[in-house]
Amino acid sequence: MPHRPFSIVFSPPFTFFLIIAFVSLASGIGCTPANDVEPASMVIYNGKVVTVDDTMPEANGIVINGDRIDLVGSNTEVEAYIGPETKVIDLQGNLAIPGFIEGHGHFMGIGSNALNLDLLDATSWQGVADMVATAVSEAQPGQLIEGRGWHQEKMGDLDESNTVRGFPTHDVISEVSRENPVILRHASGHATFGNAYAMELASVDRNTMQPEGGEIILNNTGEPIGVFVERASGVINRARRNMESRMTDDDRSARTWHEMELASQEVISKGITSFQDAGSGWSTIEMFKRGVDEDALQVRLWVMVRGENLDAETLKARRLIGYGNHMLTVRAIKLAIDGALGPRGAWLLEPYSDEPASSGHNTGDLVEIEATANLAIENGYQLCVHAIGDRGNREVLDIYERTFKAHPEKAPGARFRIEHAQHIHPDDVPRFGELGVIPAMQAVHCTSDAPWVTPRLGVERAGNGAYVWQDLMRSGAVITNGTDAPVERVDPIASFYSSVTRKPTTGEAFYPEQAMSRTEALRSYTLNNAFAAYEDHVKGSITVGKLADITILDQDIMTIPSEQIKDAKVLYTIIGGRVLYQR
Ligand SMILES: [Zn+2]
Repeated sequence: MPHRPFSIVFSPPFTFFLIIAFVSLASGIGCTPANDVEPASMVIYNGKVVTVDDTMPEANGIVINGDRIDLVGSNTEVEAYIGPETKVIDLQGNLAIPGFIEGHGHFMGIGSNALNLDLLDATSWQGVADMVATAVSEAQPGQLIEGRGWHQEKMGDLDESNTVRGFPTHDVISEVSRENPVILRHASGHATFGNAYAMELASVDRNTMQPEGGEIILNNTGEPIGVFVERASGVINRARRNMESRMTDDDRSARTWHEMELASQEVISKGITSFQDAGSGWSTIEMFKRGVDEDALQVRLWVMVRGENLDAETLKARRLIGYGNHMLTVRAIKLAIDGALGPRGAWLLEPYSDEPASSGHNTGDLVEIEATANLAIENGYQLCVHAIGDRGNREVLDIYERTFKAHPEKAPGARFRIEHAQHIHPDDVPRFGELGVIPAMQAVHCTSDAPWVTPRLGVERAGNGAYVWQDLMRSGAVITNGTDAPVERVDPIASFYSSVTRKPTTGEAFYPEQAMSRTEALRSYTLNNAFAAYEDHVKGSITVGKLADITILDQDIMTIPSEQIKDAKVLYTIIGGRVLYQR
């Protein structure tokens, strides 16, 4: 055990006495540090520390020994622990906060996206071709080049000469990728681009049959231009399947392993110290374990296992809490009850305002969800059900309520979650607090979706039920925060900005009275996420005895003008007392 002479300072009854004692001791011996102090492994000082711990909300420095926080205090207090071997981080006035916890994302999706071209910001088709050309120059001949995020509406250089019905033709891209198949998904996910070589691999030509529910776009001479809409994407994706069928099992698992490493690096570079994965299978979880053993997976993971075909025996045998020194936990199950609002898949109590014939889709069997809820509570698992529409949320709350009634001894503190909880009938809002159900929300979805929430739901439902963070908090609910990456970029600062402003890129703030305060937003991204994973005793705040998971930012996002928040950068990500990212 490291020597901790001042850690007791933070237990409130002794605070006053010990501060007096320390002050008189310090004045008695001048400025020299107390001589019985053992140097720490790391000291962070000379800045602002926002702890998310109500017993001491702010400080100037942190003392770390091994993977734990040993002391939080003033510069004078923490400097005493600097020895010749101590790793010292001078904050130079910058901000240290508890490491961000991503509350709902798809870890392996981030990894595979990292291997692909990110076209979300492309504003010209020639720019896309240039990105492809660079990727080709770094790839082996024959290697598949993939990307995602192009949108013809954003391309400034498209006109009648290089488009068919608004869609770009393949020529400029095929020219720079003669020996590599190229497949680029549309930003919406509802169309796919393929170059000439990909079309060749997929056996697409002027005679290919048009698939039902989709369209291969043809030019005026009947040749495919390289764009495949809706279900025609399956036709061009034959090229990928063709390539994958040639891979060996070893190649496939090497690629998955690499994607895991990339995901780990990507999230750590964003200041994330723990990540809550919204649904993986047992074989992926086995790989995560090996990743922890071999230090290839360096961010802490809390994983929901996918909820199909589970039984009590497997759940008991595979339950995992704090594996590898709090690196991996598996004690939650993921299911879904509906779809998303954009494509009108969210399950609503009343029809869509812009499509009166539809109330959305119920995508998960209610009887099975209830059976899984019982299985979960009986075997020490949390249940996390995706629900976006007000009907979806009500059905899940009903199921949870019955499950809790049937297990009164286990119900208090079951910490069951509803993933997204975006649109809730006002009558159901108080039930989150009453039942202790956690709305696992993503603030950044509110600002991305804002332009079409009101058209879909109408003014009344949008106003009293969409992303109602303040109403939920008033009900006593613990709101979590995240990005649902790779649906959104895995950027806590962007979601923090959305939390406190509710401002979309263009237009007015979306019902700003529901915005979080900065303190609430930071808590939602740290301590609340830890609570929602039963991990608040070891993480989520800068508190003596907790894991030394700390993020350092170059701007004080707690006080700067809100429009500057988006520009804040991560300077350091520290996990378990190790600096794993430094800008
Ligand atoms: Zn998700």
